[in-house]
Amino acid sequence: MSHKEFWINILRRLQPTIKKAHFLTWFQNTTASSIKDETLVITVPTVYARKWLAEKYDLKIFQAAQEQDASIKSIKYKVSSKVADQDGDGVDVKTLFSAENEKKTRKVRNSNQINVLKPGSSEKITTQMLNNKYKLNNYVVGSDNRLPHAACQAVANMPGGIYNPLYLYSEVGLGKTHLVQAVGNEILTAFPDMVVKYLTAEKFVTEVVEAIGRRHMRRFKEQYRNVDCLLIDDVQFFARKNSSQQEFFHTFNELYDSNKQIILTSDRAPSELDDLDERLKSRFSMGMVVELIAPDFETRLAILNQKSKEFQLILDPDVLSFIANNVTNNVREIEGVLRQLVAEVQLFERVPTIKSVAEIIKRMNKAQKIIGYDPEETNKKKFAKTSMDIISIVADYYNVTVDQMLGKARNKEVMVPRQISMYLIKNELGHSYERIGAGFGGRNHTTVMHSCNKTIKMLHKNLRLIRDINSIKKEMGL
Ligand code: ADP
Ligand code: MG
Repeated sequence: MSHKEFWINILRRLQPTIKKAHFLTWFQNTTASSIKDETLVITVPTVYARKWLAEKYDLKIFQAAQEQDASIKSIKYKVSSKVADQDGDGVDVKTLFSAENEKKTRKVRNSNQINVLKPGSSEKITTQMLNNKYKLNNYVVGSDNRLPHAACQAVANMPGGIYNPLYLYSEVGLGKTHLVQAVGNEILTAFPDMVVKYLTAEKFVTEVVEAIGRRHMRRFKEQYRNVDCLLIDDVQFFARKNSSQQEFFHTFNELYDSNKQIILTSDRAPSELDDLDERLKSRFSMGMVVELIAPDFETRLAILNQKSKEFQLILDPDVLSFIANNVTNNVREIEGVLRQLVAEVQLFERVPTIKSVAEIIKRMNKAQKIIGYDPEETNKKKFAKTSMDIISIVADYYNVTVDQMLGKARNKEVMVPRQISMYLIKNELGHSYERIGAGFGGRNHTTVMHSCNKTIKMLHKNLRLIRDINSIKKEMGL
């Protein structure tokens, strides 16, 4: 990328953040002439332009440049009237305003303005962004969590309104990060010009430490000046970090006083934040304080339904209730179980059963008592060890005879069970297509392959089939 192209990318980031008339006046015919020793040199056509950029837009330019290349540590401005020449290097900024470009730049800006910018940043520290999978409408609202959800919705509709600051607290894995990021996403959608900044308290502390070390405190503070909505996750991390608390206290006051929205999350109520400055604790309780409660059974089931849809996973309702009964205090664990089931389905094309879910839960939490699954009873079942075992169990289940299964009939009543048993023999016993074909009266291996694939395809959309296979596998002790 040439220096000029590099500069155009920076301009694209800047353009939506600056009034059009100003942008056209002060950035016309500017360019980047070099990047040396972590310094970006920008060439502008007049001394006035240099004055304006250096005085009014320095921080914005610096931030945009860092987003483009994190190794840039400073900006210098140089005047050269040549950039304005017909064949000079200066960028004609009018070209950045075509309709399509405006859309593009807005997008770029929205995803980047929420970056936490590190003064004098190093690439090691990852920028924190809002994850756009978190939305208010994919947060399942149970009877106990109406209030936090409604408060978040109210803040998203009117940032800086009455719920300021909004303070959410709960045990881990109950949706604090989800909600706080969802509010950020909604605000950016409804108010694309707002600057939303999300970061964890831990990140804030690292930033303060770095800023002190590099004597960049002023720049650090300035970053927060133009923020319209500040989201700070896990403020319990501020405990015993005194200079960070102080710094945050000032940031908080400044934003609060100018009616900017602040949302905080924590693992406990403000009054229980030990080792935190009293002044901060009282600020935290000034607005709305709400606790997120672990979801009840119905809510867990609703969450399971919602998440399995998101994961494109169709599960037997019995399996869903089984999970809801056994993974009770943490939504993150519910997701963890579902993720492993996705792997079971995608990698092994297997239908998750209560037994397989029980094993996953046991692996995750060895001490847990499992409700609704008795390994002893399962072990008493006749284990399907041979292909004939499977064929006869499937035949029983569908009320057809083994002879019919092995025979030539092609009516649906026989075909489907036949295909299912081929699939089960393949997946559970690991027999080759050839071997299965031979067992089914010398059928060709491609026929068997076709049957297995057909069943697998159906398993991705047919709940009835999933339930059938679940019951059959239960008979097989699986
Ligand atoms: P916390 O920040 O409280 O530790 P998270 O926000 O990280 O918890 O939530 C953990 C996971 O659980 C996330 O993937 C989140 O989407 C999900 N989650 C938690 N509560 C709900 C809910 N009520 N509806 C939908 N998803 C939820
Ligand atoms: Mg969290």
